[in-house]
Amino acid sequence: MSKIEQTLSIIKPDAVERNLDGQIKEMFVSNGFRIIKEKKIQIDKSEAEKFYKVHETKPFYNELCTYLSSGPIVVMKLERENAILANRKLMGSTNPKDAEEGTIRKKFGLSIDKNSVHGSDSLENANIELDFFFKI
Ligand code: ATP
Ligand code: MG
Repeated sequence: MSKIEQTLSIIKPDAVERNLDGQIKEMFVSNGFRIIKEKKIQIDKSEAEKFYKVHETKPFYNELCTYLSSGPIVVMKLERENAILANRKLMGSTNPKDAEEGTIRKKFGLSIDKNSVHGSDSLENANIELDFFFKI
């Protein structure tokens, strides 16, 4: 069953720094996503720690939070049928080396940490993450 969903996407510092946000947004639009809200911001490390709290116990948590707060990011509220899965598919595997042809991470990702985009991984997390950035 297909249903209209909203999901959170983040264009991460490595991509914003390389001025890829326009090209990445075009990929979303050409894949049927509507950009409902967007803003370019820089978050501080304590906000990144809150956002990535699910990864608190991972060995890369500290680096991950330092990285996400290292420069401007573009956060977007995206809408589409089955947006959560469709976004995960368009992003590609976490490690750009494993990402499928035609995905954002295959095209633009540099490494497992500098992988250009974040996308919510479930309906529940999409709502939490959208509320975090947009107070829906
Ligand atoms: P995201 O949550 O950013 O959309 P993801 O869901 O594909 O990515 P997660 O497992 O949630 O992957 O990991 C969150 C982020 O942590 C990844 O995007 C990546 O930048 C980083 N990460 C994941 N695994 C590693 C690792 N082994 N070493 C370094 N960084 C990692
Ligand atoms: Mg994730």
